[in-house]
Amino acid sequence: MPGLKNRSILRQHTARILRIIREEGPVTRVDLAQHTGFDSATVTKITKALIRKRLIHETALGQSTGGRRPKLLEITTDAYTVIGVNVDQDFISIQSMGLSARPIKTRRIGNPEFRNPDKVLRTTQKAIAQMVEEHANVLGVGVAFPGIVNSETGVCIYNAYFGWHNVPVRSALSAGLSVPVKVENDVRSVALGEQWFGAARSVSNMVCLRSHMGVGAAVVVGGEVLHGAHNMAGELGHTVVAVNGPLCVCGSYGCLEAIASVSSIVRNVKQRLADNYPSMLGELPPERLDYKAICRAAKAGDKLAVRTLDEAAQYLAIAIGNAIDHVDPEMILLCGSAFMEDDYLYHKVLSLEPRRSFAFSSNAVAIERSKLDHCELVGAATLILKDFFSGGGTL
Ligand SMILES: [Zn+2]
Repeated sequence: MPGLKNRSILRQHTARILRIIREEGPVTRVDLAQHTGFDSATVTKITKALIRKRLIHETALGQSTGGRRPKLLEITTDAYTVIGVNVDQDFISIQSMGLSARPIKTRRIGNPEFRNPDKVLRTTQKAIAQMVEEHANVLGVGVAFPGIVNSETGVCIYNAYFGWHNVPVRSALSAGLSVPVKVENDVRSVALGEQWFGAARSVSNMVCLRSHMGVGAAVVVGGEVLHGAHNMAGELGHTVVAVNGPLCVCGSYGCLEAIASVSSIVRNVKQRLADNYPSMLGELPPERLDYKAICRAAKAGDKLAVRTLDEAAQYLAIAIGNAIDHVDPEMILLCGSAFMEDDYLYHKVLSLEPRRSFAFSSNAVAIERSKLDHCELVGAATLILKDFFSGGGTL
C-alpha cells in the first residue's frame, strides 16, 4: 500500500484502528479489516506496531469462521498513565489514571486562597510534578478549570468567583514538566469525558449542565464540544431566567446561577433564615448548614428547604427546556454537586418535564445524571487521551 509511505496517512490509519479497538474491543484483525476496508497486510502491520508500543495486546481467542480461532485485540489500559486535575473553589484535585480512565492515585488539597493565582498555580504545579514523578510513562496532564478558558492558549480569561482575569494557567503549570499540559473549561472537560467513558458514549448531540459552585454548561454538536467565537458557547449559567431575580456574581440580575447553583441555594436559605422564615434548618450551627443538610430537610418536608430547592429546580427546568429547543440534543446530562450529592433536585427537575418546553419538542431527549466518579478528573485526563489516540498513539 504505497500511501502508507506517508507518515500522516499511517498515523490516520493507526488512529482509526485504535479507535475501533478502544470503542468496540476486544476485536479480531478480521473485524478491523472489515470495519476499515484496509487490507489484511495493513492491519497486521499497524497492530504489530501497536503491540510493540504496548498500546494493545492479544487476549482470548475469538469465534472461528472455519479455520483457526483468531486472536482478539484490546487496549492495554495500564501501559501508560494520564493525569487529570480539577481546580475549584474548595479543592485542587489530582488523579492518575490508565488509558481507560481507571483511577490509580487520587489526591485532594484544600484551596482556601483561591483568589490568589500565584498561590493556586504554585500549589497545583507542585502537586502535578509530584504525581508525574510517582508514575512511569506519563503521557500528559489535563486540567479542568472553572470560568472562561481559552483551551488553545491555556489562559483563564475570566473567573468571576476567583476574581481572575487573563491568567496564563497552562504556562504556569507546565514549568519544569517534561510532559504536555492541556487546560480546558471544567464543564467542557466533563462533556468530553462523558463522551469517552460515561453516560454519553453513543451520543453525538448533548448539553451537559453542571450545577456546582456556579452553573455551567457544555454543548456537544455532531460529536464535537463547541467553544464559540469567544470560548463562551453554552454559558447557560448566565442566561437570565428571572427578571428582577437576585444579583449574580457576574454583575447581572436573575441569572440561572444566582438561583440554582449550590452556593446560591445555600445563600438563599441563609437569607430566608435571617428573615425569620421558620425552618428546622435554623437549629443547625452555621457550619453544618450546607447543601446536603438542605436536601435532607426538604426530604423531611421542611417548607423553607422545599421552597428553595423547588425554585432552583423550576429555573433549571426552564433553562433545560430552552437548551433542548436551542440545540435539539439527544441527551441532557446533569452533573455537579447539586445533582451528585443528593437526588432531590434531580428528581424534582425530572418531575417538571423540561423536555416538554415547546409543543414540538422531542420526547426522546434523555435527561440523565453523570454516573462517573470524579467526572471532572476523568474529563481532564480525556483532554490528553483524545490527542493521544487521534494521533495514532503519539502526542
Ligand atoms: Zn450571572
